[in-house]
Amino acid sequence: MSNTTAELEELLMQRSLDDSQLLAAIEEAEDFRILPDATVIKIGGQSVIDRGRSAVYPLVDEIVSARKEHKLLIGTGAGTRARHLYSIAAGLNLPAGVLSQLGDSVADQNAAMLGQLLAKYGISSVSSAGLSAVPLYLAEVHAVVFSGMPPYSLWMRSPADGVIPPYRTDAGCFLVAEQFGCKAMIYVKDEDGLYTANPKTSKNATLIPKISVDEMKAQGLHDSILEFPMLDLLKAARHVRQVQVVNGLVPGNLTRALAGEHVGTIITAN
Ligand code: ADP
Ligand code: MG
Repeated sequence: MSNTTAELEELLMQRSLDDSQLLAAIEEAEDFRILPDATVIKIGGQSVIDRGRSAVYPLVDEIVSARKEHKLLIGTGAGTRARHLYSIAAGLNLPAGVLSQLGDSVADQNAAMLGQLLAKYGISSVSSAGLSAVPLYLAEVHAVVFSGMPPYSLWMRSPADGVIPPYRTDAGCFLVAEQFGCKAMIYVKDEDGLYTANPKTSKNATLIPKISVDEMKAQGLHDSILEFPMLDLLKAARHVRQVQVVNGLVPGNLTRALAGEHVGTIITAN
């Protein structure tokens, strides 16, 4: 049975905001999804957009035809230009918050380019502040492009080691999906999914069709195809309890994943 607003308010006014009884009472409130029909797709920066026309044009075609049946929030990665900036800034000993701002600008560049390619279909790109207009874009044209970097900016939590911002575009896109209570989260990258080792350097690596967060950690794959803090975000998620990683260089994969087919790798919270 859920609490009344009055009961919750009484606890909220009197207790510490981390009080266990208060947290338990909040847990009882029914879940609410803001955009339950929408799917977030992340178009990889290094893995897809940096490859240019040969990788991007076919995906644009797929997006344009998929949005007839699906509502799409399309987030962009950052990629090679961000890595270049990170290497210069890290060499200058600048902090993670500054690197986060730099990475943000590159994800913005990719969102701007993707937005221009989709413009003639009526699909716009929004700056991070424009996310509040997303319901309108989804209702009108079934799709919108956003910059995938989470806007932590200078307030980025520092990593345990080094200065590379730990929450980048994989995390940013996931958090959008989770906060909006979206139907699914699909990562479009350049490999068929998660392998037992990085397929770019290990020729014997084999594809793992389905795996849980705990299994990934146990197999030492926590820092592989997704940013490592993603695993904990997924495990703690309320709405988005699995993500799918597909090879966007293979035409049709994104469409199949959107249709609920098991292409690529599915990573589950438990
Ligand atoms: P994005 O462009 O979205 O940032 P990344 O380039 O960061 O994507 O991540 C995808 C890359 O992760 C793949 O191209 C692959 O080289 C690498 N990778 C590392 N370990 C693995 C693994 N175990 N399985 C699959 N890919 C892996
Ligand atoms: Mg990446």
